[in-house]
Amino acid sequence: MGAQPDVRDMLTGLLNRSGLVSQFAGLNRSAEAVALYLDFDNFRRINDGFNRSAGDRVLVTMARRMEQAVGAGTVIARVGGDEFVVIVPGGGMAAARALAEHLVDFLATPVEIESGTIALTVSIGVASINPAEPIEDALLRADVAMAHAKDDEIGGQIRPYRAEMSKAANDRLAMETELRAALARGQFRLFYQPLVDLKTCVTYEVEALLRWQHPTRGLLSPPEFLHMADDLGMMGEIGRWVLREACWQGRAWQERFAGGRQVVVAVNIAPGQIRDPRFPQEVIEVLDETGFDPALLRLEISETVGQDDIDPAIRLMRQLHPLGIRLSLDDFGAGYSGWSFLQQCPIDAIKIDRSMLEAGGESARSRPGMVEAMVAFADRLGMPVTIEGVERAEQVRAMRSLGISTAQGFFFARPLPADVVAPMLANGPLGSVA
Ligand code: C2E
Ligand code: CA
Ligand code: CA
Repeated sequence: MGAQPDVRDMLTGLLNRSGLVSQFAGLNRSAEAVALYLDFDNFRRINDGFNRSAGDRVLVTMARRMEQAVGAGTVIARVGGDEFVVIVPGGGMAAARALAEHLVDFLATPVEIESGTIALTVSIGVASINPAEPIEDALLRADVAMAHAKDDEIGGQIRPYRAEMSKAANDRLAMETELRAALARGQFRLFYQPLVDLKTCVTYEVEALLRWQHPTRGLLSPPEFLHMADDLGMMGEIGRWVLREACWQGRAWQERFAGGRQVVVAVNIAPGQIRDPRFPQEVIEVLDETGFDPALLRLEISETVGQDDIDPAIRLMRQLHPLGIRLSLDDFGAGYSGWSFLQQCPIDAIKIDRSMLEAGGESARSRPGMVEAMVAFADRLGMPVTIEGVERAEQVRAMRSLGISTAQGFFFARPLPADVVAPMLANGPLGSVA
């Protein structure tokens, strides 16, 4: 006791990260000491599903249980939101593993909170501590091992550190550094994929899709880097770049096809943009700067946004609608929020998720007649329906017979650079299906 307050974590009373480091700085450590790095699985679910104070109470309960579980001389610290470190003083890897296994079981006991019980699993990385090194180095290795334990997505896993793990961690670090620089280095591109009218096979709209021209890895698609960009807090910046680039391109087509068929450009909105109160103003500014006709801009909001984003998304769409912008509900059928959006939002088109395509609209994920019901409903609201991801002629026929008006997919065209897609916009029908 008697420790200065800033070495203690306020919530649990355990040491915090700097407390842990300073405690070990002057200590003569045994060669047998091992670090356990604990991270609760899906902890965010608690803060999202209940509330912060429920999350806090669970963390305190877990801290007390850890104290119960460990022996004398074992140090426990809370080093991050739901991350804890346990330093096992002796007994080497065998003792550390035994304790880790005990902790996985013991911490999995459900916790009572006001509104019910919560069961949590914890993932643990294990790394031995070299007496000659700063404790931070061992913590880093244990943290890397913990991240590998999480890779399985099963939860409640224990992983001892292995040297190969650092290579993967270094690769990730390198990629993060490159991603941070990608915008300034002009490595992002927009590709455009046509949407095709199923009656005439004519294109009247394209969707802008982000690509990263990576210096050594080649052309990367969003699933390969968007998650990382989100973790790094870069989605706002990237989203602004996408919107501006798409509007400049739209403006160029607007002039080129003046007097002819005008092309709508659709842009995807990330969850981070939905929550950003400055976003509507940014849209106004970009439209102003580029001179792109708002009636030719579409913004796509995914139905798969998190529970917390539904209300902000509805608010945002109500703000954007008066600008004369088109709004689509993306990935319809893949999430849970579709109907609440349709009830409350000025949406003017629906994009049915590719997962609904299987077996001619009778996908494994949906009951028979789901797609037909969606189309009938959209019809009543006067909304066109686009089906995404059509790859084969029979899918096109099936979707057409269900009354879907528009399709997008490799069958007609892949996402392409602007100069490659441009002739498809000016010319006649794309592909043909009898
Ligand atoms: P999305 O909005 O559902 O976009 C359609 C995705 O389906 C694209 O993947 C497209 O290449 C792919 N696709 C189109 N036709 C077919 C097909 O026939 N078969 C198959 N298998 N796939 C098809 P992409 O470009 O990899 O983008 C993935 C997701 O990343 C997008 O899904 C969107 O959610 C997100 N994304 C892409 N660009 C942006 C962006 O600029 N901003 C934001 N926030 N998200 C973006
Ligand atoms: Ca989309
Ligand atoms: Ca989609």
